[in-house]
Amino acid sequence: MMMAEAGATIDLALKVLEPTPSCPASSVAEQVLGSFTDPAAIREFAKSVDLLTVEIEHVDANALEEAAREAGIEVHPSPSVLRVIQDKWAQKEHFAAAGVPCAPAAAIASEADLARFGAAHGYPFMLKARRLAYDGRGNAVVSDPAGAAAALSALGGLGQGLYAEAWVPFRAELAVMVAQGRDGALRAFPVTQTLHRDSICVVTETPALIDPGLAREAERVALAAVASLPGAGVYGVEMFVTPRLLLNEVAPRPHNSGHYTIEACATSQYLAHLQAVTGQRVGDTSLTAGAAIMVNVLGDGAGQAANAERIAALRTRAAAEPRCALHWYGKAEFKAKRKLGHFTIVADDRREARAALERVLADFGVGVE
Ligand code: ADP
Ligand code: MG
Repeated sequence: MMMAEAGATIDLALKVLEPTPSCPASSVAEQVLGSFTDPAAIREFAKSVDLLTVEIEHVDANALEEAAREAGIEVHPSPSVLRVIQDKWAQKEHFAAAGVPCAPAAAIASEADLARFGAAHGYPFMLKARRLAYDGRGNAVVSDPAGAAAALSALGGLGQGLYAEAWVPFRAELAVMVAQGRDGALRAFPVTQTLHRDSICVVTETPALIDPGLAREAERVALAAVASLPGAGVYGVEMFVTPRLLLNEVAPRPHNSGHYTIEACATSQYLAHLQAVTGQRVGDTSLTAGAAIMVNVLGDGAGQAANAERIAALRTRAAAEPRCALHWYGKAEFKAKRKLGHFTIVADDRREARAALERVLADFGVGVE
């Protein structure tokens, strides 16, 4: 939806392949009902467009590659990049080989592998699914040797393809969106600080609350990570501050932690993505506001009616705040942990942005630390 909104500003009409009827994007783009994991649907879809791109990495990359070849059109980022990124373990191996610092990790094929990993790297550690992970679904903490079985079953067992990652006692998490043109030209967006709760990003604050030297280092790591991937588009690069910087993971698409760019940067991550994949020069990515705070609005487990009431109150609050932009995705069901929308507050400085956030969230019992 947000990519299609950006497309309209440069006269690019987007068409989306998505299986849920009346998906959020369908309010601004033409929707073709079908799955991005169904080769036949992708092939049919490819025949009706001039260029293919993705906004989720869990697509059938082989089908995408073949469909584009058959239709005689380009696909960006390249399916080879999608194949590496959609397997988080392959991604780890790729970045380790490229010399980008990451936490120690190992593929897990047996319970003995798990015990060995714990003995070598200590507890707790993180067990992760190689594929189809998002918003923490795909991560399980192994707190001690006795907890290994529960973590395994939480992720669906050894057959799912798993890897283990040493616990990172980070003092902050950062993200940098990077646009890579078809010619390989790179442009980084400002470093943003992300706050996760239960492995789900809930808040981002920009600029990040770090010293300028570390911000330069974060930009350098993000650029190096993206430069190692031969594919045009925007990438979301997640990092841990330990105090040394470690790469967490890279998404080959506009990213939740880059939503703030819509209001706070000269070019949004969505516009930058479209510029990059269509071979245009990517616009100015610098901040146009002193500070920006983005908050994800998540569903909770209280049921549809209670969620609707809570959200209506929040929307009224957000609408009363002059420099607060609310993005509502139009999802019908308010399920627990589901991202339903987000809002971004821009201000002249961090203090002002936080004061506005306090006003929006005043009745919701969510303090700003
Ligand atoms: P997802 O694909 O769901 O974003 P991530 O691997 O990025 O999965 O993990 C989500 C969040 O879980 C991270 O942003 C971080 O807060 C926490 N996390 C992930 N890996 C580790 C780790 N090795 N040590 C500590 N926390 C971690
Ligand atoms: Mg992540």
